[in-house]
Amino acid sequence: MKKKILAVIGLAAALAGKVQAWDYEGHHAVNELALSSLPKDFPAFALTPDARTRIAYLAGEADRWRNITSFRDGTGLALGHASGPDHYLDLEDIRLYGLTPATLPPLRYDFVAAIVKARAAHPERFPAIDPAKDADHTREINGFLPWAITENFEKLQSGFATLAALEKAGGTPTEIENAKQNIIYVMGVMGHFVGDASQPLHTTMYHHGWTTNNNLNHYTTSFKFHQWIDGGFFAATGGIDVKKLSPRIHPAEKMPAAEPDGIFHASVDFIVAANKMVEPLYLLDRDGKLSNQENRGAEGRAFLETQLVKSGQLLGNLWFTAWATAPEDTFLESELQKRQPSAEEK
Ligand SMILES: [Zn+2]
Repeated sequence: MKKKILAVIGLAAALAGKVQAWDYEGHHAVNELALSSLPKDFPAFALTPDARTRIAYLAGEADRWRNITSFRDGTGLALGHASGPDHYLDLEDIRLYGLTPATLPPLRYDFVAAIVKARAAHPERFPAIDPAKDADHTREINGFLPWAITENFEKLQSGFATLAALEKAGGTPTEIENAKQNIIYVMGVMGHFVGDASQPLHTTMYHHGWTTNNNLNHYTTSFKFHQWIDGGFFAATGGIDVKKLSPRIHPAEKMPAAEPDGIFHASVDFIVAANKMVEPLYLLDRDGKLSNQENRGAEGRAFLETQLVKSGQLLGNLWFTAWATAPEDTFLESELQKRQPSAEEK
């Protein structure tokens, strides 16, 4: 028995550094909702029943990467280090670097450089980090969520550009099929991060309870609150009905991809809006409206469902925009044209 308890404590310690955001069911719902926004002229290969199933399944992929990370034996540590911070942005903390949402650098490593410079110039601003809780060396980072969304958007643009070049300039059927499969993969995987962005606790320093001493409104300080919002509440109150939510999704719209850093700024704005929902979320919890007891959770459920719908809409808009704005891959076209004669010679 004692051994079992120790094993459970060990697991809790190993997971302490992880934040999951919506559980699989919530992420799955976001990708499904996004699919319902796509117009009929969106590439048909991405809208087949098999593709839809795969895109929805891939909503959970980025969390699966983290499932193997163990702080105890170092398994999966490099992957956890590289991908863990992609799931969140502790927005309040960017002021420690002298930044605001409007001045966040659109390129990931420029942000990293800003963190390093601020930490070197003002060490007094930053609380000490417990090395025992920082085996994956992510505690100095306040999250990369808007960069992860933007980079994945550009991967999808690249995927559509590659496919168009292969179709135009003589790619083989195998190459064309591979390009289509890659697009489906990126659509599904990127959906995870867009889903994370509407979970208010993924946009704030108060991600596992309101644990600072400015807690004048008596919000929960429970570490478990995060898990409850990720999926505990839905699981305890009948799950998520995607069919009920999908009528709230509008046809996908083109985003300002042509403006400099337009997708990055739109991602930041979305995260800022989710961060504004942090305190309302804590209030709902404090007032018992996120309870699974005696049907008291209707208001809390409506709140969380609206967040899922927002992510579903943004994701659909991002997919649609990546397709509609993918540039022409003239390099690949010229490479394909070079090899055509030799292919004909065979
Ligand atoms: Zn996540």
